[in-house]
Amino acid sequence: MKNNNEYKIAIFGAFASIIFTAIYDFIKAKPILSTFWNLLKWIWNHIFEFQLKIWQILIFFITIWIIKSIIKVFKKPNENLTTQNDADWLNYTEDNINGLNWRWKWIKNVLTHKWNIEDLTIACNKCGTSMHLDDSYVYGKTAECPRCENRIRDYKDLVKIEAIIIDNVKRDMYKK
Ligand SMILES: [Zn+2]
Repeated sequence: MKNNNEYKIAIFGAFASIIFTAIYDFIKAKPILSTFWNLLKWIWNHIFEFQLKIWQILIFFITIWIIKSIIKVFKKPNENLTTQNDADWLNYTEDNINGLNWRWKWIKNVLTHKWNIEDLTIACNKCGTSMHLDDSYVYGKTAECPRCENRIRDYKDLVKIEAIIIDNVKRDMYKK
């Protein structure tokens, strides 16, 4: 995971700078031979310079990562045109499954970029109107047509219908 690594580097960088500062303070407080002191100063200056560069790179990567994340969040569901044009299964929004006409919409999740089935319902077998589905503990599964009052009982579980639709797409079985 690239993002995770960037995060780890940032933590490591923070720790490293704390440790180097501690060493620097320790060196300053102790009387040491001037040559040795100069050598340490030379190392410190070079390490410090290196640290600065790492921080600049880190800030650069973190800024890019933040911008990328913001763009991802605000991306509209249908913005990805290649998916839109290539994926003809997006037009697959109706099918007869287990003797009933099912109807649904494909909605892209803005965070995961995955397409989800939404508004899954049964089309009335008498007038074609989208039915109102109700799953109650007492009455069981009932689909009711708002137009002609037609009722359908004991339709297949919505989770199973979704699984069948997704399987049809994955195995190209939706193409008639
Ligand atoms: Zn109806």
